[in-house]
Amino acid sequence: MGMTAAERLAWIQSRIAGACRACGRDPAEVTLVAVSKKQDVAAVAALAACGQRIFAESYIQEALPKMDAAPAGLTWHFIGHLQRNKAKLTEGRFDLIHTVDNLELAQKLQKKSRELGQIQKICLQVNVAGEDQKSGIAPEALPELAEAVVALPELGLCGLMVIPPVFDDPEGARPVFARLRELRDELSTRLGQPLPVLSMGMSGDLEAAVMEGATHVRVGTDLFGPRQL
Ligand SMILES: *Cc1c(COP(=O)(O)O)cnc(C)c1O
Repeated sequence: MGMTAAERLAWIQSRIAGACRACGRDPAEVTLVAVSKKQDVAAVAALAACGQRIFAESYIQEALPKMDAAPAGLTWHFIGHLQRNKAKLTEGRFDLIHTVDNLELAQKLQKKSRELGQIQKICLQVNVAGEDQKSGIAPEALPELAEAVVALPELGLCGLMVIPPVFDDPEGARPVFARLRELRDELSTRLGQPLPVLSMGMSGDLEAAVMEGATHVRVGTDLFGPRQL
């Protein structure tokens, strides 16, 4: 506690760099996504003032007013469970939606993107560990969903995302991260297109995720401190 925004950001960047060093990756391959859910605009502005540019939100009603009030020039991602009837509210304002896991939602996003004349970048969220009650498409059903999604012209499929089960040991999630990478590689071959994004790793397990190939780590608590709102 008591760390400044600049110190927190430097700490997370050094953790990413350390994990990259340990596995021979270039830290430039890893994008830090600052998870600002339940943080106020002042916290976003403080981190933006330190140079952070990419922020992510989980709740659409919380996100939109915050995005309006935040400093200009930031890039916003969506990482929450998106209800189909709220898909239109995204209004093309999220550069990347990490959490598409069903075709109906993809179709709603497609419709909105077409209206706006934009391409919406998305990732498919995968329930790698097969947990009950958890968002994400089952690995067995992933190819079929992905093939349907790439047929939607206003969606750009960028890659895969996972939220692993909660483990006490930060290394516990590592096989889940490794499996997501394999699923991405298989899917990329099947679709005949690159799927560059692997969105995985949070405050507690970002090192394991980076070592398994994460391109986007989503960090909230260790970047902002405890959630406020
Ligand atoms: C809240 C959240 C995070 C950030 O989690 P921390 O443990 O606070 O870093 C990352 N990804 C998703 C999908 C989240 O909902």
